[in-house]
Amino acid sequence: MSSEEKSVPTLRPRPVVDRLPRYAAGKPAAPVPGLEAFKLASNENPLAPLPEVLTAIAEQVAINRYPDSVATKLREKLGEYLGVPADDIVTGAGSLGGLVQILSAFAGQNDDGKPDEVIYAWRSFEAYPICVQTTGAASVAVPVLADGRHDLDGMIAAITDQTKVIILCTPNNPTGPSLTKAEVEGFLARVPAHILVVLDEAYTEFVRDPEAVDGIQLYRSYPNLVVLRTFSKAHGLANLRVGYSVSQPHITESLRIVATPFAVSTLAQDAAVVSLENIDKVLARVEELVQERNRVVAGLKKQGWDFPESQGNFVWLPLGERSQEFAQAAEKQALSVRAFGVEGVRVSIGEVEANSRFLSIAKDFVQ
Ligand SMILES: *Cc1c(COP(=O)(O)O)cnc(C)c1O
Repeated sequence: MSSEEKSVPTLRPRPVVDRLPRYAAGKPAAPVPGLEAFKLASNENPLAPLPEVLTAIAEQVAINRYPDSVATKLREKLGEYLGVPADDIVTGAGSLGGLVQILSAFAGQNDDGKPDEVIYAWRSFEAYPICVQTTGAASVAVPVLADGRHDLDGMIAAITDQTKVIILCTPNNPTGPSLTKAEVEGFLARVPAHILVVLDEAYTEFVRDPEAVDGIQLYRSYPNLVVLRTFSKAHGLANLRVGYSVSQPHITESLRIVATPFAVSTLAQDAAVVSLENIDKVLARVEELVQERNRVVAGLKKQGWDFPESQGNFVWLPLGERSQEFAQAAEKQALSVRAFGVEGVRVSIGEVEANSRFLSIAKDFVQ
């Protein structure tokens, strides 16, 4: 090979791509003879969407046409439901789509080549490092406390001149606790006004702590706050990819510019509208799942397990070195759960039978 040929550049992605962690999606359990398999690995709603929602989707035939790019009707419905101006809402392909808009608009690599910094708790949602670093920004991951809560003092201490965005996840996936209103307000009071604070409330409908934060009540008092919500969990529409952010107009303006056009299909918009029109039924189902969560939490406590408070539709067992072993024990019983390295295992609240099986696996494991 001549030296000229050697210098021909090969096709390579940006260097950051090789450095990104890989998203490990939860998998369904492998079948075991005589047992129904259950997936408790992705915090999905075990219930199918409401029949009203399924009918609305089935009747939607105009899929040869592009959707309404700004989801007018859905934002109007959401505005009524949340008591906020429809203009303060920006939809996205899931709340992850919303997060990508936020990061694209507010963090990245600067013209001088220096990365902005994005602070978040860790362990938290595994999509954060991927979304943050893809923009060219640097992740600043602040370890959660032993009880699975955000180390808010540590996150404040991590702020530098490069910090552009801070993500708070409440309840925190996968560890479980939610942030209180007082904690978030105290935090916001200490964050400089030029730093954007994202409150990821993907599981807000499952929260039962009366002290818990509600970002919708706060965002109008805090011009640097953006709230993320989704139809993936409580509404059971994970597959349709519809979520949204709520923030003041000087933020939404930028989010609309960077948003992927047509990211939310008409099917997803219609389904979300009908789900909101039947919100009482949705919340009644959520309440059933919360009851199941309470049953699982009480059962585990009775078995002697020590684990963080759960305000989402999942529980976190901080099993350390034994995490993979627990996941394998569950897999043998046709139950898929999520083990995160040597930190712990997250188990979603699912069907009654699946939850009972989880309890019996947990019981055998400690004994
Ligand atoms: C599940 C989850 C989401 C939701 O993602 P979608 O893109 O809306 O499906 C967002 N944030 C956290 C912390 C989650 O656990």
